[in-house]
Amino acid sequence: MSAKAILSAEFFPPRDIAAQEKLVRSAKSLMGLNLSYVSVTFGAGGSTRSGTADAVQLLQNLGFDVAPHLSCIGASKADIAEILDYYQQKGVKRLVALRGDLPSGMGGVVGELRYASDLVAFIREHSGDAFHIEVAAYPEMHPQALSFDEDVRHFVHKVNQGADAAITQYFYSAGAYFDFVERVQKAGVTIPIIPGIMPITNSSQLLRFSNMCGAEIPRWIRLRLADFGDDRASIRAFGLDVVSQLAQDLIDGGAPGLHFYTLNGAEATMNIVNRLSL
Ligand SMILES: Cc1cc2nc3c(=O)[nH]c(=O)nc-3n(C[C@H](O)[C@H](O)[C@H](O)COP(=O)(O)OP(=O)(O)OC[C@H]3O[C@@H](n4cnc5c(N)ncnc54)[C@H](O)[C@@H]3O)c2cc1C
Repeated sequence: MSAKAILSAEFFPPRDIAAQEKLVRSAKSLMGLNLSYVSVTFGAGGSTRSGTADAVQLLQNLGFDVAPHLSCIGASKADIAEILDYYQQKGVKRLVALRGDLPSGMGGVVGELRYASDLVAFIREHSGDAFHIEVAAYPEMHPQALSFDEDVRHFVHKVNQGADAAITQYFYSAGAYFDFVERVQKAGVTIPIIPGIMPITNSSQLLRFSNMCGAEIPRWIRLRLADFGDDRASIRAFGLDVVSQLAQDLIDGGAPGLHFYTLNGAEATMNIVNRLSL
């Protein structure tokens, strides 16, 4: 792995004290990986607004550079401005800027900023260069996009509004990532595009998430997972082999880093990183 590879990890806001303790344990375990930063997700429509801010503070207190996620769907510019000012005052230097998906029951409430590109433009207008801005990328196409070409065009526009880097949706085909990077680079994008890595530890959870977010699970992986049935140890061992190889292929092929979707656990991420040749 290149000495400059950026490693980062994503958490979600814990819902109770036990979950908070787990998050702290995981974050402390991951400290040994020398993460460039950690990020904390945000429930679109503001459903985790204070939970995200609390988790950000908790992780800052542990010494991490923390990037809160911020989504614009359903929000007003005044809401977003208030959150930006709050984070700036708390010493936050990075943000992950997203459109988000409205939770059920909030259908139709788009808000004043319709797409992530509008949010990036608003952050630059309101906060200047106070934040390093990451945006989302979809090597296998965003599930709502009408075509790949259109999705790529929208991504390029979003980057041009002032994004500094992108993190991808997870995927299990290194080729999809490299094709996407080549495509957007041909369209003039020069920012780092960091692959999002989802460890495989639980097949029903993985299939559920992938159905929701449109991430593709290759047929051979689905079949192997089905063969393991409830044998969780074999699923974890298989998942570790598959995802470590993917991560190594990505780094060997020139990916500038890896962003781990930890689901607030540390073990799967540690096991993968420990397998990579450093
Ligand atoms: C790394 C990462 C982190 C995430 N974290 C969170 C989180 O914390 N909270 C959360 O709620 N969700 C999160 N998500 C999920 C994300 O919010 C959803 O995937 C959402 O559906 C799209 O968000 P986006 O920022 O990619 O949207 P956008 O970039 O706005 O794109 C959304 C769709 O709109 C289309 N589009 C964009 N611009 C235009 C335009 N001008 N005209 C027409 N169509 C357009 C795009 O092609 C795409 O299909 C995350 C996703 C990733 C990859």
